[in-house]
Amino acid sequence: TTDGTVRERDADASARGTEPLLRIEDVHKSYGDEEVLRGIDLEIDRGDVEVLVGPSGSGKSTLLRCLNRLTEVDSGHIYLGDTEVTAPDTDPNAVRQQIGMVFQDINLFAHLTARKNITLGLRKVRGLSAEEARQRADSELERVGLADQADSYPAQLSGGQKQRVGIARALAMDPEVMLFDEPTSALDPELSNEVLEVMQGLVAEGMTMVVVTHEMRFARGGADEITFLADGAIVERGPPEKLFENPERERTKRFFESIR
Ligand code: ADP
Ligand code: MG
Repeated sequence: TTDGTVRERDADASARGTEPLLRIEDVHKSYGDEEVLRGIDLEIDRGDVEVLVGPSGSGKSTLLRCLNRLTEVDSGHIYLGDTEVTAPDTDPNAVRQQIGMVFQDINLFAHLTARKNITLGLRKVRGLSAEEARQRADSELERVGLADQADSYPAQLSGGQKQRVGIARALAMDPEVMLFDEPTSALDPELSNEVLEVMQGLVAEGMTMVVVTHEMRFARGGADEITFLADGAIVERGPPEKLFENPERERTKRFFESIR
């Protein structure tokens, strides 16, 4: 079939590293009468950091959720390398291991220590032994600067520390892509900084990331591309200096002025 031919060609290109890691093709999503995503097309290269910005209600969270199948698209396709994320026979749990997500609301289990919050998924989903899971959890906690908090319960941690445990938990699955949905917007500025530093560390390691944030310092310093979304459609996309200094669209200009 034509479809098969296209997939084979894509597989070859992907093996050569010439294809984007993440491809979003004409994604539509409605809730009732409201079309929340109105034909999103986006390609993200391996190792790139894509920052999504836009007014509240523009569809940023919905788009992120479609990327790891927390929300199902109505139409369109999403690919991670050669795998079609949106294919009916693709296992959403497998997708979520490969595409980790960190939310604004820090959703740790209150009755479990930081380490146990991480080992739980490694044991259940990855089938690691208790010892393997423990080693993995501790090394991920070290990666986010929390080696000394492994035995702390969420209530004993600051908001920033909790968010870093959430990041460590996602990283423990060894994902290909990390999604961040306003990871600092519930935090005071000082606590935001420690989370942003961890995210900057991931940028430096070459992690592929899609980040919804209004932290323009992060966007300026960390983003390869910024996508400005409004009313469920991409208004403009480009490197930070272009969108900040010289946007093509009046609407983009107004948005960046409003959040400055
Ligand atoms: P953003 O993250 O940019 O603020 P969202 O993706 O959260 O935007 O929301 C886009 C629109 O979709 C909003 O109008 C929101 O109310 C609506 N929406 C989001 N999730 C749902 C849902 N589960 N059910 C109904 N409407 C939703
Ligand atoms: Mg949102």
